[in-house]
Amino acid sequence: MSQPATVAVIGAGITGLTAAFRLHQRGLQVKVFERSTRVGGAIRTIREDGWLAEAGPSSLMFGAPELKQLVRDLGLEPRLLTANPAAKKRFIVCGGKFVPVPMSPGAFLATPLFGARTKLSIFTELLTRPRVRTADLSLAELVRSHFSQTLVDYAVDPLIAGIYAGDPEKLSVRHAFPSLWEAERSHGSLLRGMLAAAKAKKARGESSGPAPLVSFAGGLQTLPDTIVAQLPPGAVALNTAVETIIPGRPHRIVWQDAAGQRQSGEFDTIVLALPASALAQLTFGTLGERPLASLDAIHHPPVSSLFLGYRREQVAHPLDGFGGLAPGIEHRDVLGILFSSTLFPGRAPEGHVGLTVFAGGMRQPEHARLATPQLLERIGRDLRELVGASGAPVFVKHSFWPKAIPQYQLGYESHLETMTRLEQAHRGLFLGGQVRDGISVPDCVKAGHRLAQAAGVAAS
Ligand SMILES: Cc1cc2nc3c(=O)[nH]c(=O)nc-3n(C[C@H](O)[C@H](O)[C@H](O)COP(=O)(O)OP(=O)(O)OC[C@H]3O[C@@H](n4cnc5c(N)ncnc54)[C@H](O)[C@@H]3O)c2cc1C
Repeated sequence: MSQPATVAVIGAGITGLTAAFRLHQRGLQVKVFERSTRVGGAIRTIREDGWLAEAGPSSLMFGAPELKQLVRDLGLEPRLLTANPAAKKRFIVCGGKFVPVPMSPGAFLATPLFGARTKLSIFTELLTRPRVRTADLSLAELVRSHFSQTLVDYAVDPLIAGIYAGDPEKLSVRHAFPSLWEAERSHGSLLRGMLAAAKAKKARGESSGPAPLVSFAGGLQTLPDTIVAQLPPGAVALNTAVETIIPGRPHRIVWQDAAGQRQSGEFDTIVLALPASALAQLTFGTLGERPLASLDAIHHPPVSSLFLGYRREQVAHPLDGFGGLAPGIEHRDVLGILFSSTLFPGRAPEGHVGLTVFAGGMRQPEHARLATPQLLERIGRDLRELVGASGAPVFVKHSFWPKAIPQYQLGYESHLETMTRLEQAHRGLFLGGQVRDGISVPDCVKAGHRLAQAAGVAAS
């Protein structure tokens, strides 16, 4: 009997692990290489003294079929937690306090977030004719041209701070928001385009509303940990940094093992599931070429996430929602505050609440780099004024992400072309994840499926 084909998966974040799980299911022999001491990459749950804090992502949009199938196949459905329905309520800082985001036409007309011109623009935008743009534009420019600057300031800017820790003046519509790019091309009006997309989803039998937010009873780390538990023993090598790929048939990989020794091995196919900075460092061939070096130019702002635990009576706000985001125009020191213990049960001990504060990003990168005491001092005013926090938190977990999230900025196509060129140059080598396929965890799970399919076909 012939030996099963061998696949090297490089990077044990959710992209690489999803790919490894699917490849293993296809009967291929998989080896996962991970530079750090743990699996999950940006997904990291901290459990301590009755608290459960997420250092990276806190929740997932549970809409992508690939994510639902993965959760089902891993047997994780019983451990899935759906966010508290109260979390539908979200806040935006306006005039120095949290104001609810309007969720109905009546609330939209009454909200102090937008003036009369912006409110009127929602109706006139519906009449916009289709236009074919040839040049990409920034998200802020697109929204300004369809609605108003106020909508950019009080809706788009805080949303982008929350998702990308980014700047809407720099993010590309074509690459970061392809559905809006498409909506404008096919409908003219972004609103009509979004309504049509929701209708099409409904016609396919899918829910037309936003996907529910989910996590697991043990936090999001459950997902990578469960994948590893279902791979054969020894399939994942930790503390193992891949340095060089020598393409050929088979491909040769050179890595440094946990003891610092250089090792090498041969594989039929390779899946690269690494962040941009790691891809940029990889050498190819024997001459030390770095064909992905230009990916180092992709901007990744630093972010600090601070999980803060308080006794319930220390926080005056009812915390009756998902949390709140701060528009840049309001000049706050936080990007946003998540009401983590409202979102899911089991995040704080009885009689306590947990908040997750994000600071830094494209807006104030210097805040992200502060040491914990200085950061706590810096955000103290926001905590007092926005949620009525008093006294020192009783539990603090500070996670610093020096290169948090890749910014799909204008001109991103040059990076996508670099990645495509590498794949085209080397048969049996595939690349994906947050740098190429979208930054959310569901996007990365989809990327893992795509990579496994491609690598599986190439190996058969
Ligand atoms: C603070 C923060 C909050 C976020 N919040 C959300 C959220 O609420 N919801 C959401 O959907 N998404 C969120 N995201 C985004 C999402 O978590 C990430 O985009 C996603 O997890 C990336 O997965 P990945 O597998 O592509 O990359 P990574 O998770 O970065 O994994 C790559 C892995 O490769 C390893 N590696 C690097 N170099 C080498 C090498 N040479 N050899 C071997 N291994 C190597 C790394 O150690 C790492 O484990 C958040 C991200 C951050 C940072």
